[in-house]
Amino acid sequence: MKRRQIGRATLILALALLMVSDPVSAGRSAVLAAGQPVAEIGGSSRELNRQSGDALPAAARRQRRSKGLSLGQLKRKYPDTLMVQGPRLRIVALTFDDVPDPRFTPQLLEVLRRNHVKATFFVVGSRAEKHPRIIAQMVRDGHSIGNHSYNHPEFGRLSMPEFQSQIIRTENILRAQTGFKPRLIRPPYGDISEPQVRWARDRGYKIVNWNVDSLDWKSLPKTQVRNNILAHAGKGAVILQHGGGGQSSNLQGTIQALPEVIRILRKRGYTFVTVPQMLEYGGAQKSK
Ligand SMILES: [Zn+2]
Repeated sequence: MKRRQIGRATLILALALLMVSDPVSAGRSAVLAAGQPVAEIGGSSRELNRQSGDALPAAARRQRRSKGLSLGQLKRKYPDTLMVQGPRLRIVALTFDDVPDPRFTPQLLEVLRRNHVKATFFVVGSRAEKHPRIIAQMVRDGHSIGNHSYNHPEFGRLSMPEFQSQIIRTENILRAQTGFKPRLIRPPYGDISEPQVRWARDRGYKIVNWNVDSLDWKSLPKTQVRNNILAHAGKGAVILQHGGGGQSSNLQGTIQALPEVIRILRKRGYTFVTVPQMLEYGGAQKSK
């Protein structure tokens, strides 16, 4: 059973603990998800287990890594490499994982365009290969792009060469499509080990997790997606949403919630920035 191994596998999302409003049902969903990895890209790959989104299930979070540091420890030890939020300014970053997906990503791009918001998209390499036009549109629209692996494995279970190949393979695809290499990495499920963080640091990457989880991978209706975001989004928030999913996932809630999320956060005085812009603000604040 794939999911059972998660127990020993993973570190994780200490912050998500704060964000999951209903850890019991989250845990239950994870259990349901266990036996049904979603085959989606190319049919043979079982990479994107949509049912668990990018937040690891509660059961996994409760488990401590038998070896290695927790995510919280890694964040304290490598503050310049691993981020979950930006500086405490009235800025927030919308981030969308598991793109591109022709069912959902173009609609999100349209909403963002209408509202003049730049966001950050974390791209799965195998999907980018299939939908290069959506990647081109993201770049034309001025969004930032990060690396979300080639086929969405849990990094904590990979050997170093496997991990590196996930990053580099996707990077090469994106470089061919866009002309640049993304410097941002978002690990699937937020899961990453210390040697992997060090490898990323030594090569100048930033690992970008999140501190606000919309839980939209559960195919939630618009009001719940909106409330999950608005209840937790504060200064410097990095907000996790999805712009793609497995066969059974429905992200209409995400798409429909977005205009309201934007309107209400603006009303509260927040400005939307990309993750690279947020990092610049952080750097400026530090050097003061
Ligand atoms: Zn993902």
